[in-house]
Amino acid sequence: MKTRFLVSLLLASVAIQPIRAWDYEGHRTVNLLALASLPTNFPAALRDAAAQERVGFLAGEADRWRNTNDRPLRHFNGLDHYFDVEYLADYYGMTMANLSPFRYEFTAQMAAVRAKSPEKFPADEKDTDRTKYAPGFLPWAIIENYAKLKSGFSYLKVYEEMGTPEEVAQARQNILYVMGVMGHYVGDATQPLHTTKHFNGWVGANPKGYATNKTFHSWIDGGYLRKAGGLKDAELRAKLRPAAPLTLDGAAVRDAEDVFKLVMRFVAEQHKLVEPLYEMNKDGRLSGNGEQGMEGFPILSNQIRLAAQLLGDLWLTAYQSAPVDNFLKNQLATRKLQADAKDGKTEEKPKTTKKKK
Ligand SMILES: [Zn+2]
Repeated sequence: MKTRFLVSLLLASVAIQPIRAWDYEGHRTVNLLALASLPTNFPAALRDAAAQERVGFLAGEADRWRNTNDRPLRHFNGLDHYFDVEYLADYYGMTMANLSPFRYEFTAQMAAVRAKSPEKFPADEKDTDRTKYAPGFLPWAIIENYAKLKSGFSYLKVYEEMGTPEEVAQARQNILYVMGVMGHYVGDATQPLHTTKHFNGWVGANPKGYATNKTFHSWIDGGYLRKAGGLKDAELRAKLRPAAPLTLDGAAVRDAEDVFKLVMRFVAEQHKLVEPLYEMNKDGRLSGNGEQGMEGFPILSNQIRLAAQLLGDLWLTAYQSAPVDNFLKNQLATRKLQADAKDGKTEEKPKTTKKKK
């Protein structure tokens, strides 16, 4: 009796689990492979054993935030994990090309469509965190974190030159945090079900008879990979190419807006895998049974590797393209002059720096 109660409790908790992308193991693998792809001229303190543990653990952070009942966080964070491409056209008459890289501008554009045709967006009492009609913000989550990381490198470069050891350590910790958290979203981008309205079973017209069961998503996230024996770390590492600076149409990416275009194209590529994934499932290639049931495994493993490669490239590009934070540099120069003056080393007046809001 007690066992049955526990089982039903467990089932109930499974039923309210949010849709994830790769399970923690998959996300952790993405982050660790990305670290392994970095060249030796990437700061060693951001690649050592402690850094690996930190960045690996943080791969699961954005999913931990999804376990909350607090609706403001569910609303804010939930949408960052996916970008259901079909909703752009279905609800808003938009396409992936030319979307604004500014999250709030895009939100306002959607709101304008909703205000014009409220009948297309009926209230749904189950939609407690008000995410139902949003396609998601995955590409924005990636580029906003990319820009934060670049900012982190901009100030790390100054602290390494003029800061205290404590400041350098703090700056490095901040960078590791952003690297780890952004890795989660890049990992989500290669789970094809995070790019589609068919995120957990085919919806709407279904002439090809694809699966409609509401366990499909979690099967791809981890169930299948586990049944197939888990990701093969050594094999994935052997296939890893070294991280390289990102380019857009042959030119080095200049800023987060270039990265936005690149990420949009990347997501569009992953979206092309949605129907093949359902086909593979229909053919039994994702069953894990027999030889045929293993055929989907290298394809999903490759998605994990693809995420790691993009992530390594993003980290490296942020590092290499981060300009020196001149505002901070001036501040630290002033601080040094003031300290020297106090010590009687110099009579120089401290330079004034432009005030920031
Ligand atoms: Zn996620």
